[in-house]
Amino acid sequence: MNIHEYQAKQLLARFGVVVPGGEPCTSPEEAREVSQRLFAVGHKKVVLKAQTHAGGRGKGVFKNGMKGGVRVCKSSQEVFDIASYMIGHILVTKQTGAEGRLISTVLVTSAENIKKEFYLAVLLDRNTANPVIMASTEGGMDIEEVAEKQPEKIIHETINPILGLMPYQARKVAVGLGLRGEMLHQAAKLFHGVYRTFWECDASLVEVNPLCIVQRPDGKEELLALDAKVSVDDNALYRHQTIQAMRDLAEEAPLEIEASKYNLNYIKLDGNIACLVNGAGLAMATMDIIQHFGGRPANFLDVGGGATREQVSAAFKIILGDPNVQGILVNIFGGIMDCNVIATGIVGAVKETGLKLPLVVRLEGNNVATGRKTLADSGLPIISGTSMAEAAEKIVLAVKNSV
Ligand code: GDP
Ligand code: MN
Repeated sequence: MNIHEYQAKQLLARFGVVVPGGEPCTSPEEAREVSQRLFAVGHKKVVLKAQTHAGGRGKGVFKNGMKGGVRVCKSSQEVFDIASYMIGHILVTKQTGAEGRLISTVLVTSAENIKKEFYLAVLLDRNTANPVIMASTEGGMDIEEVAEKQPEKIIHETINPILGLMPYQARKVAVGLGLRGEMLHQAAKLFHGVYRTFWECDASLVEVNPLCIVQRPDGKEELLALDAKVSVDDNALYRHQTIQAMRDLAEEAPLEIEASKYNLNYIKLDGNIACLVNGAGLAMATMDIIQHFGGRPANFLDVGGGATREQVSAAFKIILGDPNVQGILVNIFGGIMDCNVIATGIVGAVKETGLKLPLVVRLEGNNVATGRKTLADSGLPIISGTSMAEAAEKIVLAVKNSV
């Protein structure tokens, strides 16, 4: 699960990471009020930041024509005006796709006098199965681009999860970023805070981009987390009530939310052949074999080992909620699963939804004879496949012939 920048900063602050002061606001009036308080304590400028899980907001453009999801403002009137163009409007960034995202919250925060920007992240390295701290002097910009064009500019330090981030490792990364003296000391402390946020929150990613050296009015320099992104492992959410409460359904794909209500593992993809499968491994193999025969999977869908008729019916409706779908492949290997439960579910769902698209069903395993009979007796134009390969070939062909 992903959370908003302002929420990520709340978590980081809890673990001692220095973040600029600010508050999330849901109306231009509220934004103006918060900015008045910031101006009153001596800040000369404030920053308005559109809150969405998608990155690249700085370079984003609103559909109403306004440029920038991150804007520096010099007066509370300006804050009011800019917030009016952000809240209730759609922001398009490199990561949102053309449809963009509706902004309903803006973060009003003090503008900092930035001297230098860095990139910092702690994430799970799946190759070593350990957390890794990644840092770069090329902050503020697209880290994927840095990784591609100047990989030598990215510092990696693998963390032993039993030992945690060792003080020498934090210093090594700070030195790698060119930090010395007081800044090195501040950086090492901040890295520990970021690592603790990662560890204590069961995060899969904590990213601070940019991490900044800012200059205070008195000339003193300070290291701050100016932007933050946190992704938390869904499997650990049950033990983090406060993080669960940060979930923003408006940021999630509607079909995926619907699927989670029925305990279905559904991920929308951009192909045209939907698949309904039991078991994650079989679901992945099914997507591969669709691709192998020249088709493109429209989704990943695992109905689990003991799906009920209701779940099968819900799964069908979710699949059909995707307008790109032109055919469906059901691939079930009944172990615990009773093939006839699936067959009954399919027949019910096809009748209920008045399905017009080609449907290929491959059933194998527990109670398969009864299941096949249920399908055959239904009188519905269901194409049956005996092997997985044959079924995949049939659906690819049927879709080709139907369009
Ligand atoms: P993102 O584009 O979604 O990653 O949003 P960021 O929060 O990273 O902001 C984008 C850029 O805006 C940063 O890299 C900074 O250069 C700039 N920015 C953000 N906050 C401030 C601030 O307080 N002061 C100044 N001068 N620039 C800021
Ligand atoms: Mn950023």
